[in-house]
Amino acid sequence: MSFLGPRLAKLQQKITPSQAILLSAPSDIQYFTDFQFLVPAEREAYALLTKKQAYLIHNQFSPVVNHQKIINLPGCNLKKLLKHLDIVQQQHSFKTILVDESSLFVKEHQALQQKSSWQVRGLAKQLIWELRMSKDTSELAKIKKAVKISQQAWQQLEPQLTTGMTELAVKELLETQLKKLGSPQPAFPTIVAFGQHTALPHHQPTDQKLTSETAILIDFGASYQGYCSDMTRTIWFGTKPDPEFIKVEKLVKQAYQAAKQKLKAIAALKVKNLDQAARQVIKKAGYGDFFIHTTGHGLGLDIHEPPSINWKNQQPIKPGMVFTIEPGVYLAGKFGYRYENTVWT
Ligand code: ZN
Repeated sequence: MSFLGPRLAKLQQKITPSQAILLSAPSDIQYFTDFQFLVPAEREAYALLTKKQAYLIHNQFSPVVNHQKIINLPGCNLKKLLKHLDIVQQQHSFKTILVDESSLFVKEHQALQQKSSWQVRGLAKQLIWELRMSKDTSELAKIKKAVKISQQAWQQLEPQLTTGMTELAVKELLETQLKKLGSPQPAFPTIVAFGQHTALPHHQPTDQKLTSETAILIDFGASYQGYCSDMTRTIWFGTKPDPEFIKVEKLVKQAYQAAKQKLKAIAALKVKNLDQAARQVIKKAGYGDFFIHTTGHGLGLDIHEPPSINWKNQQPIKPGMVFTIEPGVYLAGKFGYRYENTVWT
């Protein structure tokens, strides 16, 4: 767990001795403390950082994090949190608490503000994303494993697709394979779409049955030790593909390659250049209006993280970034085609 020390130190460098940071987003807490959440939607833990010390505030229901840089404080309700903050303040005399406004509940925010012994300010979340955007070797290894699991699951699934299977049955089969391969749960709800359903990027599986000579789109991800992968495959199920399907398939794969090629030289490369490269290919072929989403998104502990691979993102591409490249063309009433992989710099 030697990676926790450097991560904490990098964030602690960004604050003064009179500031403390209260982290409440589960993936941030996991990143900085290695705390394993059971139900991330519930408040199972907070992390508190002062310039010199890191604390993990959590109920005694979960495994204790053993790390020399982290002090465990038991009890995670609001009353306990305030008590812990009082004690830590007496030792470190911070005057301002920087809170994550994107994940703190209103009642927590109000309770913190009612105390006169400190001021509450919003934390510039970019400070954290700058760190989390550059994955370290331990994170990259986990993401690569998640990618491998999803590739293997797809290889096993494709030959098993038969007429009469429902979208829901395919989802079930795929998620069972993911589990067998080492992903305890999918990275996000698996998308399985047949026929015209493929034209909706976030279609959710139904009991529609697979028939021959139709498009199939499957978008799914594995998770490995908390880290996500994301991939989409679209195939024609049958032997007589729609000529337009063949045309769009070729086009979308060209767009994917145009963005992927850019990563061969990342010096001076900006995120928007990737989107532009993919979008230009699709636009030139006259399908620009049907590429209705961004070219990709960052991922890691969360399935959607910065950077968003969009046409105006000026963020420079840096080593250690992990994101998807996923151009798509969606023709309502006909079919949609998306091709997606998780890539890293
Ligand atoms: Zn996806």
